[in-house]
Amino acid sequence: MRLLLIEDDDRIAGPLTEGLGRYGFTVDHVRSGAAGLADATGSPDMVLLDLGLPDMDGLDVCRSLRARSAVPIIMITARGEEADRIVGLELGADDYLAKPFGVRELVARIRAVTRRTSALPYTGSEHPEAPVQAARPPAPAQRLGPLEINRRTRQVHLDGHELALTPREFDLLAYLAQDPEAVYSRQQIMDTVWDPHFFGPTKTLDAHVAALRRKLGDPAWITTARGVGFRLTVPGPDTGPEGTG
Ligand code: CA
Repeated sequence: MRLLLIEDDDRIAGPLTEGLGRYGFTVDHVRSGAAGLADATGSPDMVLLDLGLPDMDGLDVCRSLRARSAVPIIMITARGEEADRIVGLELGADDYLAKPFGVRELVARIRAVTRRTSALPYTGSEHPEAPVQAARPPAPAQRLGPLEINRRTRQVHLDGHELALTPREFDLLAYLAQDPEAVYSRQQIMDTVWDPHFFGPTKTLDAHVAALRRKLGDPAWITTARGVGFRLTVPGPDTGPEGTG
């Protein structure tokens, strides 16, 4: 598995490259956003992106990468940059890791992101069209009112129009859609859609819920069960803003 590491600080990149190598990863290391975007044309399996780069805002690098490919992106951020993390996730990054962190923690994130996104492996084309496991029998898409969720192709259609969801947004929607109207706790969601035994702030969940509500065009699709978690609901004609906060 080939990782593209975009990180200007050699004190971080050096040990990371060496440590990831011990876990069997091949690491291409570049020190600027421009070099990262150039190198990304070589179809890495995943991008590890530092947000504090000398030549470009890391968020712009994230946006540019996502505009051209479905390559999984893990952002690496300094502490205290929570706003950046949330924006990055909304721009399509799949996960983030705050400095300082250990190689084992990063490897765990890489594996978790790989598991989540493996149904649509990065093929180098802009829009991978089919999963590699072509032998699986086609499963019908799940229909929820005007919403259609196809777990096999990881496509979501609303009123016949395909929604552009990030891998994590799809996973979150598909998870909530397993049992519409059922309330899933924040911890259940974090454990399943993010990492098992997720520990730490769950603001990233709120950011993804907000992004999904926006893409679904009606905040009533995902209602907040205060103090508990979230549930998916097909909005009725009489749904108001109540309960969506
Ligand atoms: Ca940096």
